[in-house]
Amino acid sequence: MLKAQETVLEIDLKALKHNLEFIKSKLEENTKCLAVVKAFAYGSDAVEVAKCLETLNVDYFAVAYVNEGVALRDAGITRPILVLHPQVFNIGALMDRNLEPSLYSHRILDIFIDEAKKRNQKKYPIHIKFNTGLNRLGFKEKDIDSIVSKLEDNASVKVKSIFSHLAASEDNTERDFTNGQIVSFKAISKQMIDGLGYRPMLHQCNTSGIMNYPEAHFDMVRSGIGLYGFGNNPEINRNLKPIATLKTVISQIHTLNIGDSLGYNRAFVADGITRTATLPIGHADGIGRQYGNEKGFVTINGQKASILGNVCMDMIMVDVTNIACMEGDEVVIFGQKNTAEHLAENVDSISYELLTAVSRRVKRTFNR
Ligand SMILES: *Cc1c(COP(=O)(O)O)cnc(C)c1O
Repeated sequence: MLKAQETVLEIDLKALKHNLEFIKSKLEENTKCLAVVKAFAYGSDAVEVAKCLETLNVDYFAVAYVNEGVALRDAGITRPILVLHPQVFNIGALMDRNLEPSLYSHRILDIFIDEAKKRNQKKYPIHIKFNTGLNRLGFKEKDIDSIVSKLEDNASVKVKSIFSHLAASEDNTERDFTNGQIVSFKAISKQMIDGLGYRPMLHQCNTSGIMNYPEAHFDMVRSGIGLYGFGNNPEINRNLKPIATLKTVISQIHTLNIGDSLGYNRAFVADGITRTATLPIGHADGIGRQYGNEKGFVTINGQKASILGNVCMDMIMVDVTNIACMEGDEVVIFGQKNTAEHLAENVDSISYELLTAVSRRVKRTFNR
């Protein structure tokens, strides 16, 4: 990769391929793989990532919202796309693009069926979401009879899958709870299959579920964070490669004397001669204010430089007192060595949040 000359997010598509292969190595041969590309493919670039994964034959994509699915269709993605969290308001747009809804309540199921009938649809693929303990979205077991009665003799839609989501698949202290979710999902699936008279696909695992609950892979698994290089576990992280590297450059270097202050609200005051580097990246780019005041750090010429004072909208200042560097030098915020997970830990956050925060104004480049 070229040396950064401005703030860029480099996306390593070879690492993406590597991660997909590692995830697939954990699956039985016939288990399908759904790639979760919501939130711009976890802050990278949904279109480029989905195009790459399509050539690598992932079976399915998932996004959170309808507009994310529309963007993928507009970019030419042809594989099935599951929309995890459609709203009644955008069902029309969803159907226009052949996106497949997760239906999680009677309200949205009824409205969807009506719309499918109105449009003379035949067997429009739908996915029924069950709540087995996350208590976020989904039908309950007690809803099965009424769901089945709405779907019986209904030619306009067809249940392509039945699914649920694990609440704590990365947490080994919650194995009993997770096993309960799996047992409950099996019971629900059986009743649904009996009621429908056919067998849709079943799926329940996210990345940590894939790694920790091989007995719950069912017909398909849904991987997000794993594809992007994180496994919520040091052991698994060793086998994955973060695909995103956030880089920037040093715009200017200042030397502060004792008592000089730095940045807004004078949040940092030098207690010794302090050399600082100003970088063109701030909270509007995704480095939140919680990383200020030495909670966060960047890497310059292989050395750690703490963020001093408050994070500005478009800039941060870092401590380079003991680092040989000059204007124009490259700076790594996070990447394959100093990872997003590691940086996020300093502010009690997680890789997911830091990755998805990188704003749209940061240029994306691709290593193919
Ligand atoms: C986001 C999401 C996933 C992916 O989870 P990872 O932990 O990133 O693998 C899977 N399923 C559902 C329903 C999700 O919302």
